[in-house]
Amino acid sequence: MSIAQELEKIKGTLPAGVRLVAVSKTCPPERIGEAYGAGQRIFGENRPQELAQKAAALPADIAWHFIGHLQTNKVKHVVGVARLIHAVDSERLLMEIEKEGARRSLAVPCLLQVHVACEASKFGFSPDVLRGLFRQDFFIRTPHVQLAGLMGMATHTADRAQVRREFRALKNLFDEIKQAYFPADDAFCELSAGMSDDYGIAVDEGSTLVRIGSAIFGAR
Ligand SMILES: *Cc1c(COP(=O)(O)O)cnc(C)c1O
Repeated sequence: MSIAQELEKIKGTLPAGVRLVAVSKTCPPERIGEAYGAGQRIFGENRPQELAQKAAALPADIAWHFIGHLQTNKVKHVVGVARLIHAVDSERLLMEIEKEGARRSLAVPCLLQVHVACEASKFGFSPDVLRGLFRQDFFIRTPHVQLAGLMGMATHTADRAQVRREFRALKNLFDEIKQAYFPADDAFCELSAGMSDDYGIAVDEGSTLVRIGSAIFGAR
């Protein structure tokens, strides 16, 4: 199937209110252009340099999202280019984004990555650490970060029930934090969950942003 057909197939399964981030990392600009031609406007990249090159070469109405682990020394290359940073996974990174946002007088839209998987290798805040930060009003110190929601990745496993439990835990944490700290803030509204192999489950469990790469562009 063509990229346009894959996109159409995937979008046909997404309910209203769920947006598709086409993960174009490692993908050459011509293939991104094909998706763009089919109407796709949100693309996800995970390398600052690749993001900058593609953003410069491709149409200006693309909303680029930075989706992977971001090193603190690369923050300055991503702020101002990415429309949303999906995976803020430490206080140090958050403070670096705050600093860069302050320098440029921006409120940088970010999601906080929560570690919900069983794998030790995945980045992110544990739910309890995140609750602790909110309780201590940590985010009052980051006025140049615009908290837009949470992001998480499920364990890479064939056990669909486990994947569902993890996405559900992420959604429950989102609801808890939303209710406690953002009840009247419409900007805190995104739950970034689901990739090529598990987005159907993530959508069932309340995802608002799915990050899909290989199912659109083929294996990397
Ligand atoms: C690569 C990547 C994806 C997309 O993965 P696919 O399995 O190709 O859909 C989603 N999220 C993050 C953070 C990624 O790095």
